[in-house]
Amino acid sequence: ARNTDSNGIVVIGLGRFGCHLASALVALDHEVLAIDHSPEQVQRWSNHLERVVQADATEEGALHQLGVAEFRRAVVAIGASVEASVLTVLALVELGVPQIWARATSDKHAKILDSVGAHHVIFPEAETGERVAHLIVSKMLDFV
Ligand code: ATP
Repeated sequence: ARNTDSNGIVVIGLGRFGCHLASALVALDHEVLAIDHSPEQVQRWSNHLERVVQADATEEGALHQLGVAEFRRAVVAIGASVEASVLTVLALVELGVPQIWARATSDKHAKILDSVGAHHVIFPEAETGERVAHLIVSKMLDFV
């Protein structure tokens, strides 16, 4: 049975975005299960994160074995490979994860993520670019 009290979050893909997301969640006192298919990435983050495992997240069976179906939330932080990102979201949908967050790198990517069942689609590069623009402009106003 799913532990509905669980504050655990699955983070898939430990690239530049995923690793910062995972460590920020840990700093916020959330239990994080981090998954990446690259042994180098897993090795690299194993000292910093409590649970880092090597697995191909596009494989529903692999995610199931790791207990991903018990989590209420998962974030797909894979960016460059649209195929891997979409198949991973699909696997999470099939496992019945109730809140799936997925990173999109383009509007078309976002459209596919949405249509396969992602609940929240995020654009880290676009959002950060916008935020930094606002930050720069607000600092300009501070010093006029
Ligand atoms: P970032 O901008 O966050 O560095 P990126 O777009 O440069 O990301 P990606 O190719 O999206 O890099 O990969 C992000 C991480 O996702 C990598 O560490 C990669 O190993 C991992 N990854 C890619 N495909 C899979 C998969 N099928 N299963 C698990 N992890 C994956």
